[in-house]
Amino acid sequence: WAKSKGGNNTVYFSRDMEEEITRKVEMEAHLRRAVEKRELFIAFQPILHIQGQSLIGCESLLRWQHPTWGLIPPGEFIPLAEETGLIHDIGKWVLVESCIQLKEWLDQEAGEFYISVNVSARQFQHPTFLNDVEEALAISGLPAEYLCLELTETIMLHDAAHTIEAMKSLAGLGVKLAIDDFGTGYSSLSYLKHLPLHILKIDRSFVQNMSDHTPDVAIVQSISTMGKGLKMKVVAEGVETPGQLELLKELGCDFAQGFLIERPMSLEKMNIFLKKMHLVTSLEI
Ligand code: C2E
Ligand code: MG
Ligand code: MG
Ligand code: MG
Repeated sequence: WAKSKGGNNTVYFSRDMEEEITRKVEMEAHLRRAVEKRELFIAFQPILHIQGQSLIGCESLLRWQHPTWGLIPPGEFIPLAEETGLIHDIGKWVLVESCIQLKEWLDQEAGEFYISVNVSARQFQHPTFLNDVEEALAISGLPAEYLCLELTETIMLHDAAHTIEAMKSLAGLGVKLAIDDFGTGYSSLSYLKHLPLHILKIDRSFVQNMSDHTPDVAIVQSISTMGKGLKMKVVAEGVETPGQLELLKELGCDFAQGFLIERPMSLEKMNIFLKKMHLVTSLEI
């Protein structure tokens, strides 16, 4: 099929584009049913205290196990979920499941850690979001201070006034707020002084490009210093080598997350991991 624009320029959809659209429509239909068919699950990735190596938190990372397509990473279906609005139901599900799971761990284990849940811009902007968070806490019985919401700088690009209000309400509940992929967005630093933020997560591109005297070392060091000054904790994402971990320690990062420590894992593996981990007795972030 073809579509014409004015003048002499006729733009045809190529077969590739047609297939792409068909694939998207099909994927949307499957994603719509994924929650009720229990095809979505959460992988957990630990976050460690960089000095003491004790567990401080873990991040919930969504996975889709499709019966015939196999395991689909979030990068492939989250954008579609955002486009179609399915992110509201899916995001709510992740929130509830994450809170229930952490509550269970806190009841079982002699120690404390937090759970970090990713929230996309569209989900955050939705009028019921605050309510969704309150409900997840109520359903699970998890005290608010054990839940951290990871937001990206893109939320600041939408409606800054609404974002600030919404973040204040969330912080008012006692929930922790983190900026994910910090340093890669286009927003200005001035928002840092207006927002009730607790955690900065340094994007893994900086962490992975660190070697002696690269600009990335200076950037990581500056973010760490700024975090201290602003009384925020700084998490380094994507730590893959012992050398990176050592350097991050020297540069003053508080927490570390990455394949070096553990890859995101299934609930079963996380349960085994928890047995061998040292947990802090009281969470101070
Ligand atoms: P993110 O929140 O920045 O999550 C970190 C990503 O880096 C994860 O990819 C994780 O598996 C990966 N990662 C962790 N350590 C390392 C490392 O040492 N090396 C490398 N190369 N990668 C590492 P994943 O699980 O594929 O998730 C991708 C993105 O999808 C997330 O980035 C997040 O933006 C989004 N996402 C995941 N789950 C959810 C969710 O429940 N809701 C929403 N809205 N977005 C989600
Ligand atoms: Mg994240
Ligand atoms: Mg990140
Ligand atoms: Mg990311």
